[in-house]
Amino acid sequence: MYRERTKVVSIGDRVIGGGNPVLIQSMTNTKTEDIKGTVAQIRALTAAGCEIVRCTVPTMEAALALREIKQQISVPLVADIHFDYRMAIAAIENGADKIRINPGNIGSRERIKAVVDAAKERSVPIRVGVNSGSLEKELVERYHGVTAEGLVESALDKVKIIEELGYDNLVISIKSSDVMMCVKAHELIASRTQYPLHVGITEAGTLYSGNIKSAVGLGIILYQGIGDTIRVSLTGDPVEEIKSAKGILKTLGLRKGGIEVVSCPTCGRTEIDLIGLANQVETMVQEFPLDIKVAVMGCVVNGPGEAKEADIGIAGGKGVGLLIKKGEIIRKVPEDELLSCLRKELEHWEQ
Ligand code: SF4
Repeated sequence: MYRERTKVVSIGDRVIGGGNPVLIQSMTNTKTEDIKGTVAQIRALTAAGCEIVRCTVPTMEAALALREIKQQISVPLVADIHFDYRMAIAAIENGADKIRINPGNIGSRERIKAVVDAAKERSVPIRVGVNSGSLEKELVERYHGVTAEGLVESALDKVKIIEELGYDNLVISIKSSDVMMCVKAHELIASRTQYPLHVGITEAGTLYSGNIKSAVGLGIILYQGIGDTIRVSLTGDPVEEIKSAKGILKTLGLRKGGIEVVSCPTCGRTEIDLIGLANQVETMVQEFPLDIKVAVMGCVVNGPGEAKEADIGIAGGKGVGLLIKKGEIIRKVPEDELLSCLRKELEHWEQ
């Protein structure tokens, strides 16, 4: 599996590559210069399960802010830099645990060398990122448009520049909003390099379309053993990105822990507000660090059977529900008490 043999890279106190667990990243959407707001958002992301966070560094003030931000957070901090090599150097000097650059927009070889030298001095890894939206004109012409082959060639060219400067503490990311192009690019690059890959579908869209594109794209890529860190990009609150990323990793069996909720789609047999109940249960279980399955089923025809498969479940009746634990019906509960009864059971759960 590709993931087993990628180069091990340390980002702050986290380690990626070489078969280490796939880590979840997100990016703040606050002004990095706003230290208070950025720290608050990073803490919210961390509480949701974010393991590496990235902030944009478009100004010297933002680069300087990293130092204070870092002191107030518990996850590695990645600085995202475009165009100005001085920001990259300042970010490294102010404690960035990794920087993300596109050497193509940093400028001359001397400027790239200055950034690489600063990174080398502090062993700060560099993520070399290429994006379908900014693929070099020459590669677009050669490959008759933006293609997976062009993206891979662009990324490997950039990696080569840094390797020639004597640095290989690298991570690569190739992003495209075209899901299948992104999949193909990852398959291609995985056969040509052993650097860890940060995987994401860029500009994926709003909560609805972004989740679908990310689940499909990341699902195919990760299932092939490719990808060492992931980001689900959504137009919305970045905390939603973390929830989705966790869901994708869990569905693929790449992450354990947390309560899995299964619920039926409801039908004409349903006689309780199952949709409302299932949503409430999904939110409620997030506070329990249990590794179990909870079923929320609408009726007594299929409900008990499904609920018995789970560790604990509800099978709805007419204004009531059966509470089923480890395959046994333990109680008949009025509809309006189902949520609190389930909560009590989880509070006293022995794993
Ligand atoms: S579990 Fe019952 S209510 Fe839910 S979809 Fe199946 S038959 Fe319908």
